[in-house]
Amino acid sequence: DSLMIAANKSYLAVFDGLEEIRPGVSYVRILQLLTEEGIVDTGDSPPADWRAMMTGRWQSPSPDPTVIRLWNGQYIKLIDQRGHGGDVVSLALNITETVRYEKELKKARERAEAANRAKSTFLANMSHEIRTPMNGVVGMAELLRDTTLDEEQKLYVDTIKNSGEALLVIINDVLDYSKIEAEKLVLHPEPFDLERCIHEVVLLLQPVARDKSIEMVVEYDLFLPTVFVGDPGRIRQVLTNLLGNAVKFTSRGHVLVRVVGMQHEGSTETQLHITVEDTGIGIAAEKVEHIFGEFNQVEDERNRQFEGTGLGLAISEKLIKLMGGTIWVDSEEGVGSCFGFRLALETDDTGPEEPLGLPEHLKKIMVVDDLEVNRLIMGKQIEAFGLKVHCVENGPQALEMLDDSFDAIVTDHNMPGMDGLELARLLKERRDDLPIILASSDPGAAEQDPAFALIRGVMPKPTPRRMLLRHLAALEAEQRPQVDRLPSAVASTPSAQSRPMRILAAEDNKTNQLVFEKMLKSLDIDLKFAGNGIEAIELYQKFAPDLIFMDISMPQMDGKEASERIRVIEGQGISRVPIVALTAHAMDGDREGILAAGLDHYLTKPLRKVEIISMIAKYRPDDARAIIPENVQAPA
Ligand code: ADP
Repeated sequence: DSLMIAANKSYLAVFDGLEEIRPGVSYVRILQLLTEEGIVDTGDSPPADWRAMMTGRWQSPSPDPTVIRLWNGQYIKLIDQRGHGGDVVSLALNITETVRYEKELKKARERAEAANRAKSTFLANMSHEIRTPMNGVVGMAELLRDTTLDEEQKLYVDTIKNSGEALLVIINDVLDYSKIEAEKLVLHPEPFDLERCIHEVVLLLQPVARDKSIEMVVEYDLFLPTVFVGDPGRIRQVLTNLLGNAVKFTSRGHVLVRVVGMQHEGSTETQLHITVEDTGIGIAAEKVEHIFGEFNQVEDERNRQFEGTGLGLAISEKLIKLMGGTIWVDSEEGVGSCFGFRLALETDDTGPEEPLGLPEHLKKIMVVDDLEVNRLIMGKQIEAFGLKVHCVENGPQALEMLDDSFDAIVTDHNMPGMDGLELARLLKERRDDLPIILASSDPGAAEQDPAFALIRGVMPKPTPRRMLLRHLAALEAEQRPQVDRLPSAVASTPSAQSRPMRILAAEDNKTNQLVFEKMLKSLDIDLKFAGNGIEAIELYQKFAPDLIFMDISMPQMDGKEASERIRVIEGQGISRVPIVALTAHAMDGDREGILAAGLDHYLTKPLRKVEIISMIAKYRPDDARAIIPENVQAPA
């Protein structure tokens, strides 16, 4: 019936001796007295509302605890418990002390936060103020370095410059950290090429790594898109931090960056998982949890030799958090560390990835770009498609390297000296069958150039891997002249001479001999075969070839040994015969060994007709006939 049955003294004390408050009084009346007598302070809510609220609460099957404030500033927490028979036990706790304490804490916290923000703002401003003149110092030192100085002066200038740069790094760290703290750091998301970003950071750290003989490896998941929407500057900063640390704390072994990702069906977001693994000093288990804190460095005798602010990881963690990701570390002391972060980024790619096949004839691509990072990335991407690639720095080098082994050229547009379109013009004069793909940061401008007609495709720069693949896949075989074009020198040479060029091919495998013979059947040459190294030496002496093709692995005597012996015989006064090695393995170390044995060139199997013919054309002596018979038209 909501009538009071009993109450203790403490409970009654609140009502300060009010007569009516005794057993039998109803709950509604108690609420009325509380408001009418001004015992309770209802704050902003009108007394009637407060009473309605309290009645509602009272009637609910299990009322939530509530706190009321009394006229004298005391706080009472009411905990009401309904029993089985419908009776209610009401507990009133005086929590005034606790509430006051909480308020104090809250105020103190607000004050601390404000002070911290002020500190951060101050640091940010200071860093900025210091940075500006420091740039002047470093910049001027750099200019001074280029004037005439003696050795001692150079040393002084270099010290100024290096110290200035070191200071700038520290200031930048402090600046970033305080910006994040002061909540002033804003992300600027835009489409960017993640793979490229990683390679750029690796390239930046390469000199340090090279000095320490640490290998740096990037493993970018082949099936992952490369262009995402994110803040490239900040992502690069995190990568620079993690990679920089990895290189710093590693003295031998490797640093490996691995990028894998997952795209959920129907979502344009990719879950990226990026790890930086090193084989360095590692971090002790008890210290691992602290290293993301600011100014925290693992201090021990091994570590003290390393410089740093101890802010890098704190900043990285905050940046990754700001981007909605997580960062972590796994490390074992003395074995190495693996730092990783997870990020969900929007993919900026077009549509679903249907598999693209490359045309059969496409085997070797030339890449022309003046920037090393571009050559590196494009080279790696093309290699990842299973093609051979050769990178050069500029147009003249491209023209010099050009031979029939290349099936396509990917060239940069803007390059100092000769630009990509100028190069296209010159390339077309040499080999008009060669498809040229242009990578341009300004495709619109490229289209205005008359030389644009010579270009098979234009790609924007930086080029997502997928787009590069699309362009290469579009180089259909039928667009390429059926007959491999021969170097112009082959056909244009007068052919009045009487004797054909003598060629010796050492090859133990009969089928390969046949293939070789068939490839060259249209040529006007004198071709002889040797079945092993010993025969090759014999024939070399009897036949006096103008050129030798030498298989490397042969029974009885291999190609290397045979070549060495031929060189010894030549040492006795006969002119040097060019020897071209033919080998099945394109192994790196092989090449040096083969060339050291006295061979001049190196062709890998499967042999390509054009490669063989250009070698022959290259070494045709003046007294031998043209290798193309007169009645056969040289293919255009
Ligand atoms: P800093 O490198 O400027 O000292 P960081 O915040 O980047 O600051 O790193 C904090 C500390 O974490 C380093 O001083 C080092 O003790 C430890 N640490 C970071 N990365 C590695 C790593 N790859 N291997 C071993 N220790 C590391």
